[in-house]
Amino acid sequence: MSFLSKLNALDLYLSGLPWLFRHFLQKKKVTILMFHHPSPEYFDKAITALKKRYNIISLSRFMDTTQANKWSLPAYPLIVTLDDGWASNYALLPVLEKHQIPVTIFLMAAMANTNRHPWFSFVNNQKQKKELKTVSNSSRISALNRMGFVETKEYDTRLILNKEEIVDMQQSGLVEFGSHTLFHPILPHCNDNTALEEIQLSKKKTEELTGKPCRFFSFPNGDYSERDIRLCKKAGYEAAVTLDVGYNSRNDDPFRLKRISVPDNATISELLVKASGFWAFFKVLVHKQKQSRRHSGL
Ligand SMILES: [Zn+2]
Repeated sequence: MSFLSKLNALDLYLSGLPWLFRHFLQKKKVTILMFHHPSPEYFDKAITALKKRYNIISLSRFMDTTQANKWSLPAYPLIVTLDDGWASNYALLPVLEKHQIPVTIFLMAAMANTNRHPWFSFVNNQKQKKELKTVSNSSRISALNRMGFVETKEYDTRLILNKEEIVDMQQSGLVEFGSHTLFHPILPHCNDNTALEEIQLSKKKTEELTGKPCRFFSFPNGDYSERDIRLCKKAGYEAAVTLDVGYNSRNDDPFRLKRISVPDNATISELLVKASGFWAFFKVLVHKQKQSRRHSGL
């Protein structure tokens, strides 16, 4: 049994190891967290706990500091991001206002302000979903079509934020919107034209929805290739977030910002263990160990 599965989050939290990570690794580096659709109750508790340990700043502030070549961030800087732009994010606005903290929401721009549903919420089978992420984009779309799913179909229920909600959130001054492509494909599996469209048009669409420049991009599923980074630069983004594990400093490539995925529903000790990067760090370590065992025939 692995080290991780033997211990639960509370044990890890009480062990003080996440504290050491925070104290030595996160003090002068920027930690970026990724949520999706937390409930307002959980988000309130999560932000309360994070605020005690970190200084929550906006992605814009981090990039402004980096671009000005003048590091003026508080200690333990942390950025909160939410991917996809779920309609339920609107209910988080009172929590943001209560705590006066900024967040970045990455929108699937062709889904926002429509009743379209993302492909991954249509597919319930986890194995099937995983497989669809490994095939070419056209094979994924054909397979989904065969299953009865069409990207542009308008459903009765709305899952993603609409324009009113987006504008309202933005007017609070606490929410900035970035792009998360149009339809959430796996970019490295797209041909050049589709990748360009997903990256470039989603920027334009996000700007139409918000009336503000769309500065940032989030790679769906955290997957990207060199070409996708090139296309992001060409489209005029200033930075892009990945799901590569780690923290960020001012000299890091702004188009490969590292991010830590945190749960939308968990205990606060689990959230803090994950936000410290400790969990992801050990997952990578265990994975590497397994790989080297495999390679050495063990
Ligand atoms: Zn996503």
